[in-house]
Amino acid sequence: MSDTLFGRIIRREIPAAIVYEDEDILGFRDIAPQAPVHVLFIPKQRVIPTLDDATAADAELLGRLLLAAAAWARSQGLAQDGYRVVMNCREHAGQTVFHLHLHLLAGAPLGRFGTP
Ligand code: 5GP
Repeated sequence: MSDTLFGRIIRREIPAAIVYEDEDILGFRDIAPQAPVHVLFIPKQRVIPTLDDATAADAELLGRLLLAAAAWARSQGLAQDGYRVVMNCREHAGQTVFHLHLHLLAGAPLGRFGTP
């Protein structure tokens, strides 16, 4: 795969607190958590830089990314109180790592989001 910071985490070249892994998806704790629980879910096999770069061929992978996050949240007892998933796309959303990823935020009531 082409290299990104997250590619290096996938290859275990830099450490991360990995909480979930299957054939196609890796989940690990964000290094700068914005909530008591803040986990990133990323595709392992192919780098899609942003959601805007995804195509119909990625539909199953994107669905599985969401379902992996939901299943993990359920497994951690986070689903009943609830959680938020966020995907930042490019500059106005503040995307900093150009390897598509889903943020899962949980563990406390979250503030409202997204106003400039
Ligand atoms: P973005 O801003 O692109 O939506 O999200 C990138 C996320 O990656 C940020 O929340 C940032 O804290 C996290 N991050 C950046 N570098 C590292 C790292 O080396 N390890 C981990 N675990 N997370 C990182």
